[in-house]
Amino acid sequence: MREFLKKLFKRHPRRSLPGLDMKFYCTDKCDGCGECYRRCPTGHIKMVDGRPFWKGPCLMCAACSQVCPIDAIRYGKPDSENQV
Ligand code: SF4
Ligand code: SF4
Repeated sequence: MREFLKKLFKRHPRRSLPGLDMKFYCTDKCDGCGECYRRCPTGHIKMVDGRPFWKGPCLMCAACSQVCPIDAIRYGKPDSENQV
């Protein structure tokens, strides 16, 4: 599935949604397990120094946040109530 979506985005870049994932971030609880990175169907989460960074485009499928075993992924401004 991941490889299929990578090919789809490469072939049809306009179907991608750049910028939608810019508000994803992980809290200090993140232990760098990489599960979000492995689960993202578009392969656009990058692990840098053991922490995930969202580089878009994004399907907004929320798989990354759902798969995090310690609920360390948030969406929105770090100090806002607009978080999931
Ligand atoms: S919401 Fe889905 S597509 Fe977007 S970064 Fe998370 S897993 Fe990847
Ligand atoms: S799944 Fe959660 S704990 Fe694991 S790297 Fe991603 S944010 Fe960090």
